[in-house]
Amino acid sequence: MVADDWRIMSRPETLSPLFATLESLDGVGAKTAQLFGNLDISRVKDMLFHLPVSIIHRRLCESVHGANPPEFVTVVVHIVEHLPQRGKGRPYRIVVKDNVQQWSLVFFKAYEKQLQNLFPIGKKVVVSGRIELFDGSLQMAHPDYVLPVPKSSVIPQYEPIYATTAGLGQKIWQKSINGALLRACQLAPTLGEWIDPALIIRKKWPSWYEALHLVHHPKNESVVYHESPAFQRLCYDELFAHQLTLALARSRRRCQQGVVTKGGGHLRSKLLAQLPFVPTKAQLRTSNEIIYDMAAPMRMNRLLQGDVGSGKTLVALIALLNAVEVSGQGALMVPTEILAHQHYYHLQEMAKGLGVNIVLLTGRDKGSERMKKLADLADGSIDILVGTHALFQSDVCFYDLRLAIIDEQHRFGVSQRMMLGAKGARPELGIDTLVMTATPIPRSLTLAIHGDSDISILDEKPPGRKAIKTAMISLSRLDEVVNHLKEAIKKGRQAYWVCPLVEQSELVHYTSAEERYNYLCAALGEHCVGLVHGQMNGNQKDQAVADFVAGKTQILVATTVIEVGVNILNATIIVIEQAEAFGLAQLHQLRGRVGRGSEQATCLLLYRAPLSQTASRRLHIIRESEDGFRIAEEDLAIRGAGDLIGTAQSGAPRFRMADLEKQTNLMALAQSDARHFLETDPDLSSRRGRAIRALLWLLDQDRAIRMIGIS
Ligand code: ADP
Ligand code: MG
Repeated sequence: MVADDWRIMSRPETLSPLFATLESLDGVGAKTAQLFGNLDISRVKDMLFHLPVSIIHRRLCESVHGANPPEFVTVVVHIVEHLPQRGKGRPYRIVVKDNVQQWSLVFFKAYEKQLQNLFPIGKKVVVSGRIELFDGSLQMAHPDYVLPVPKSSVIPQYEPIYATTAGLGQKIWQKSINGALLRACQLAPTLGEWIDPALIIRKKWPSWYEALHLVHHPKNESVVYHESPAFQRLCYDELFAHQLTLALARSRRRCQQGVVTKGGGHLRSKLLAQLPFVPTKAQLRTSNEIIYDMAAPMRMNRLLQGDVGSGKTLVALIALLNAVEVSGQGALMVPTEILAHQHYYHLQEMAKGLGVNIVLLTGRDKGSERMKKLADLADGSIDILVGTHALFQSDVCFYDLRLAIIDEQHRFGVSQRMMLGAKGARPELGIDTLVMTATPIPRSLTLAIHGDSDISILDEKPPGRKAIKTAMISLSRLDEVVNHLKEAIKKGRQAYWVCPLVEQSELVHYTSAEERYNYLCAALGEHCVGLVHGQMNGNQKDQAVADFVAGKTQILVATTVIEVGVNILNATIIVIEQAEAFGLAQLHQLRGRVGRGSEQATCLLLYRAPLSQTASRRLHIIRESEDGFRIAEEDLAIRGAGDLIGTAQSGAPRFRMADLEKQTNLMALAQSDARHFLETDPDLSSRRGRAIRALLWLLDQDRAIRMIGIS
């Protein structure tokens, strides 16, 4: 058995030529290999996947007359005369004549002897390079090719250009890639096809080797090239390999046995009957998806994605009640105490009269109070436990935990999630988990990062919400803003005032929350302003929020601690100070604190002029849209995938060829293809399965290889 695992896990011998180091290629020595290494290219196969960034069209022409400088041309010229360098900085000029007109070749570093050999007066040569206009006349500096006319066919009409580094010229690239292509050509017949044959036909994609050859020896220009079947196929290969890894992870997890939780629905129907509103279609659909998963004998691993205010709490409650209906328990874990309190009250409110025991557990529960809660939890008197990371502690034991819901997962590590998942009554069975996130991310990123989960999307907001009025205001108009608040308070409205940092920083001139608090107290009266920030202790924070909820204070000055989930209906104004310092997602989250009721809400984005171009673009997007998913797409477009979620912990893959931003559809296709394939051949043992193994090796999907290895 062990021997067999090793055989599966070691790389197929046939692939070895592509895994050789670069020095095995003609013309690549240690120094060149080192330079390629700096670009993350160390094996022959890496070379193949370094696709051209652009393509030069060397237009074959009779004359430069009528050329469109700067333009690449290939043209036969007659050498007229040499004009050696006159003075420093002046070029060496060679006057040439083509079929129509006279013009010149120029050289800034000239070896006269060499040039005279290369360009004998009175002879004809073919030159190829970039024509430019200088002082009103056409010239070509340092032609890329100079050849005797009979050899002109050596010059490619379309030439790939590779992103490179100092010391690695395009000619070295072309030579090395041709060497790598030769190897690929030799072993391609043994590889087989890993893409679904029907898809290949439908998309008119070439085979792997043909595709590689075509992209490195392009036959048309850059614009067309990115649309070409060859290019698309190679990107698909990469996306498919990635999605196979995720699909393997998913199918292995789905094989993980879970507890069957089939609630009878009596609590749910009671809840729905007493709600003061009608659930949205999206809320019903997503809760059904969850209930269906919980009833299955495998472990649920589902993500619930929904914009701020889309009503995730109701979906969570329905799922939790499903566990309670079978006399099981549910846990809801949130990242901050403020949120834990909010969720607790919100759930209590909705579940009133259902006879369900909901309890809050946070780090502040100490001594006998805590012991009592733990005892109630262990004997099953508590049905639903809401809390912070206090839920992870080892002495927290459930009677029969059926469902763990984790809100705002980006604040929790994977290991913390796993600890909660292991608290079930039968540890050998995984606990059904539902992760809720209010951070909409573009579909392409959802596919790339969460491709191993099942996803429910709340893509509909409860009806009747008024659009939030969003305005950009320069900090120089602070007085007007304060006057506006004064008026609003008189009418009984409440407002958040968000400041970026608590402590005054010398480096960054953010206005501290405390300073702003003092300022507003002076302007509006001390009794009506509250303050909450991360440096305060838990009781102080609660008191500040409680005073605001109770309407004792009308203005709550806060740092971003209020960012996530806080829900105070009477607050209809939010002022975001130094809005330019926030990212799009954060601005959207912050603004989501208001506009939750039926009152008209306002968001004022205070900025310090002058705004940088991207900051201005960000603020305009926020002003124009309230759709979290659209904002996320724009964010991706501005920042690029890596940056959007902080590459390090996000798990967002870095692709060599594919483009996360532009190839969402290919990614979706790759996901369904990968999942579908694994259903028919889970251990990749069919003919296509074996080809897929090779693909996984070629694209460094180590995780996938390990999973197949031990399966
Ligand atoms: P989220 O957590 O997704 O940001 P919440 O669950 O906090 O949103 O819901 C926001 C507000 O909308 C709450 O006051 C909630 O009671 C209300 N709400 C939820 N679902 C509906 C609905 N279907 N119709 C009307 N209001 C709803
Ligand atoms: Mg919420």
